[in-house]
Amino acid sequence: RGKRAFIAGVADDNGYGWAIAKSLAEAGAEILVGTWVPALNIFESSLRRGKFDESRKLQDGSLMEITKVYPLDAVYDTPEDVPEDVKANKRYAGASNWTVQEVVESVKKDFGTIDILVHSLANGPEVSKLLSETSRKGYLAALSASSYSYISLLKHFLPIINPGGASLSLTYIASERIIPGYGGGMSSAKAALESDTRVLAFEAGRKKRIRVNTISAGPLGSRAAKAIGFIDMMIDYSFTNAPLQKELHAEEVGNTAAFLASPLASAITGAVIYVDNGLNAMGVGV
Ligand code: NAD
Repeated sequence: RGKRAFIAGVADDNGYGWAIAKSLAEAGAEILVGTWVPALNIFESSLRRGKFDESRKLQDGSLMEITKVYPLDAVYDTPEDVPEDVKANKRYAGASNWTVQEVVESVKKDFGTIDILVHSLANGPEVSKLLSETSRKGYLAALSASSYSYISLLKHFLPIINPGGASLSLTYIASERIIPGYGGGMSSAKAALESDTRVLAFEAGRKKRIRVNTISAGPLGSRAAKAIGFIDMMIDYSFTNAPLQKELHAEEVGNTAAFLASPLASAITGAVIYVDNGLNAMGVGV
């Protein structure tokens, strides 16, 4: 049987989540995705209307199939956690069962188990503010959406991830080096995510021989990155200063994810793997 993957954080064909889905599909995996509730309608209708067909093309000419799209808001664990105003919001009212616990229950009912869990989502409402000017609320929101969301997904999925399975997330070097512009506590959120990767690797490894890694990706002009505002500058900076002076393709991150999820990576867990044309290794820009 082919492997089954759940990828949280796919809402268009531009981001790392989509590229990871494609590389996993290329390797023969069945693809399930979790899409942020407010982005669900447009993603599903674009998919239906064939807007992504060009980007769905696999090497053999066939189109990547997404077996099922689950609405998801990874900021809420159970229905009891959802505030009244969100429940009443018309972008949410049309969908149901989108808290983490409910999504995992639905996946279990539909498919029984999965083999691969991917977390490719982040959100920081105050990302454009300096860390020193970030509010408590904004900081905690960044950690909730970008770090705890991974703990919650892994916690709830763990019982239905097959032993020997793999899980991974996406991080950014702003966790360990100063990247001005990546504010609002997003740098803190990525530091937490990387630390949690190690502890979760221990816990999931001992419990079920499941591997947990994170990919520290270079800059990509995704929807989320464009919202931060400095992405074109970061892409230029990387092109100029990295050991490999070439564009970074989302597919290169996707292929690394497929490797990490495969038996080829059977001894790799608790690791931060850089996929950034080597930029992380530079001490100064030249
Ligand atoms: P993206 O816009 O494709 O993906 C982010 C996704 O998160 C979106 O689909 C959005 O709808 C979803 N999302 C936001 N809040 C959510 C919530 N509460 N519940 C469920 N989904 C939610 O952008 P991307 O840049 O590909 O981001 C994917 C991951 O890659 C993120 O973790 C990001 O931090 C990381 N990353 C990106 C870059 C970059 O330059 N683009 C670099 C390094 C790491």
